[in-house]
Amino acid sequence: MMIDGGSSYDSDLAYAYLKKLEITHLKYMVATHPDDDHIGGLSGALRYASVERAFCSVDTYDSIPFENYRKALEKQGVSIEIPDPDEHLTLGSAEVTVLAPLEDLEEINNNSIVIRVTYGNNSFLFTGDAEFSEESSILGSGQEIKSDVLKVGHHGSEYSTSSTFIDAVKPSIAVISCGKDNDYGFPKQRVLDLLAKNEIALYRTDLHGDIIVSSDGESISVSVEKETDNDPFTAPEEKIMDPSTIPDCDYVVNKSSRKFHKPDCEAVGKMKENNRWYYQGDRQALIEDGYEPCHMCNP
Ligand SMILES: [Zn+2]
Ligand SMILES: [Zn+2]
Repeated sequence: MMIDGGSSYDSDLAYAYLKKLEITHLKYMVATHPDDDHIGGLSGALRYASVERAFCSVDTYDSIPFENYRKALEKQGVSIEIPDPDEHLTLGSAEVTVLAPLEDLEEINNNSIVIRVTYGNNSFLFTGDAEFSEESSILGSGQEIKSDVLKVGHHGSEYSTSSTFIDAVKPSIAVISCGKDNDYGFPKQRVLDLLAKNEIALYRTDLHGDIIVSSDGESISVSVEKETDNDPFTAPEEKIMDPSTIPDCDYVVNKSSRKFHKPDCEAVGKMKENNRWYYQGDRQALIEDGYEPCHMCNP
């Protein structure tokens, strides 16, 4: 099973990683929600591997990354399914339960597909970009969510991972997927403090690179691509630029994340100077070139 695949510009990486592991067939592919940083790379994975069933939180969505996912599946004769809450899937001798979305929370992050995988005595929770409202709807449903390993919601954002949620999941290991020097300053200190207070071992892709968590059904082991001297419980330093120094333009494009923003978006101030492209011109042309509007400033 593959859950999310990074951004469109990670398609080759998704392809190469499956190839390295010689995974030519996936029983399930899950796009937790249609944001590019989750669905984009899956079309690359589909160039290498065939899939049996494919899921997303929506079955129609107006974006190029979603269309690429749909078309890549169509070539394999597979159509996108929206999973039923409480759907149970088998995966070898592991069991996969779909915990959410339970209700339409009208915001794509909060409609993320949330999945719990259990294998023997071990359990894993994958939360997509779920924020507080989806967490509380899961808590309210009374489903079993206690898990050894938590893929922390929404890259460690301020508005995900409530203390009530952590109390219920009680993970011993947490993994945060976040880009090095990302525009949003993820992960946020509040979340890191909460994980530290609960004595949860933390791994971050911005510090550790690829993180592999393995289970034999009895115990869990973690290996990382690179060791780090940085304290994982310290948030990245926010370098905020004076907005009055931003040159006149229609949009500020991040050449690295391929997101574009209104010049006054909070994210622009945190963006590295050499990633910035001060763009004069048409919004639609940017979208057609594969750039994605920011979800905070909605340019
Ligand atoms: Zn998202
Ligand atoms: Zn995301």
